[in-house]
Amino acid sequence: MPSRQTPSLRLRRTVAAALIPLLLATPLAPAFAQPAGLPDLGEMSAQDLSPLLEQRLGRAIMVESRRDPAYIDDLDLRAYLNRIAQKLVAYAPGGGIDIEVFPVRDGSVNAFAMPGGFIGVNAGLVTSTRTESELAGVVAHEIGHVVQRHIARGLSAQKDTMVIMLASLLAALAASQAGGQGPEAALVIGQAMAVDSQMTFSRAAEREADRTGFSMLQGAGFDPAGMVSFFGRMAQMSSLNEGTGQVFARSHPLSLERMSDMQNRARELSASHYVDSIDYLYVRAKLRVLQADGVNALLEAIRALGYQAEESKGTARSAAFYGAAVGWVLRKDAAQAQAAYAKATAGGVEHPMLARLGVEIALLENRPDDAVKLAQAAHARWPDQHSLGLAVAQSLQRANRHEEAIVELNKLASAWSDEPRIYQMLADSHAKLRHLIPEKRNLAEYYRRVGALPAAVEVLQQARIASKDFYEQSSIDAALTDVKREVDDERELLQQFRKN
Ligand SMILES: [Zn+2]
Repeated sequence: MPSRQTPSLRLRRTVAAALIPLLLATPLAPAFAQPAGLPDLGEMSAQDLSPLLEQRLGRAIMVESRRDPAYIDDLDLRAYLNRIAQKLVAYAPGGGIDIEVFPVRDGSVNAFAMPGGFIGVNAGLVTSTRTESELAGVVAHEIGHVVQRHIARGLSAQKDTMVIMLASLLAALAASQAGGQGPEAALVIGQAMAVDSQMTFSRAAEREADRTGFSMLQGAGFDPAGMVSFFGRMAQMSSLNEGTGQVFARSHPLSLERMSDMQNRARELSASHYVDSIDYLYVRAKLRVLQADGVNALLEAIRALGYQAEESKGTARSAAFYGAAVGWVLRKDAAQAQAAYAKATAGGVEHPMLARLGVEIALLENRPDDAVKLAQAAHARWPDQHSLGLAVAQSLQRANRHEEAIVELNKLASAWSDEPRIYQMLADSHAKLRHLIPEKRNLAEYYRRVGALPAAVEVLQQARIASKDFYEQSSIDAALTDVKREVDDERELLQQFRKN
């Protein structure tokens, strides 16, 4: 377990602290440039943030977050965390809330809710959980803050921090309005985290999040004692001044009263016999290497997983070797990766994440046609796993088989239309085949899905100019009208906010 903040994180925090005033002064956000703008925001923060505006703010932050190096763009990890979240949300009071969980490349123990139901979960948090119910317990607590709309209601102990947070979030929205392609905004996750770590929720809010989280955890069938044991360990570490739990404990204050409240609730329930899913073991092992900051930390993580594997049996053993193999792929050491992979799959152990890794190793060994075969076999075995479909397309692209890649990607798009990466890959393959218009149109679809609307307008206009076909032109015009309407909606929303 890591016991200190990584240097890059400390740096990121410092940068983030400097970024907030910077963003306030950015020319992209003229309405917030002068300090005189702040009292207005102060008044605004006293009111409720409307759900629509909250969602737009959240989306704007996510546009930038996805470009942050701290954002772990791993389909298996994202899918796993969101499966847990969906199980919990099914038991949310009132129901019908949108939650999106994403993993963050950071070794410190932290999770944070942002406006609009976006929840970041640090790698360090996942790897410091001992059971899946502990992980679900933290996610449930964060969903509790979302369900109770604590950010929007400004239930912070320090109103000033809330004001700064809203101001910087608005700057993010303004930046995405202006195209959102500037390099200055790429550290937004660090910023959101820094703000989150300064924003202490009130005791009442913490209690509400606990209670809501607890009932979801129980409803979804996880062991409610997981929440108690994890928060208990955080409280202990924080009282011992150990770095790991500090950040989380600061933004979610753990009072004695809170702990005993949780303990009482857990005691009232009969013992749960929840068994950790196999996915949890593979996910935790992967994050163990992804959270490593620098070569030495990575080699240390690989070594530790190797020892752990030797001491374990069955799936736990396979998962630890899997983690080591992922580490060797990151080091681009195909021979070591292959050796660890062979141990992970020994005795015929099967898992979609293992299969996907096999494809990656074949690509690392520069055997793209073999990678295609492996990916196709795995996708046939687990047809519901979209990430394996994407592995097929990726391998086809690496093998320069772009026509086939396009067929595969179009199939994926019809089953999974909201995944931005599909359209990015379609644009790449069309570009390789010099299909100019389809390239631009897919690029526009990609930009739309990541919320970079002005960029979408721009490429559609380029497509419109290049097109010689009447029917194609009218279809591009229709798409342009749609995107422009979305741009206008956002601008109107922003202006409404400025008037307040
Ligand atoms: Zn909390």
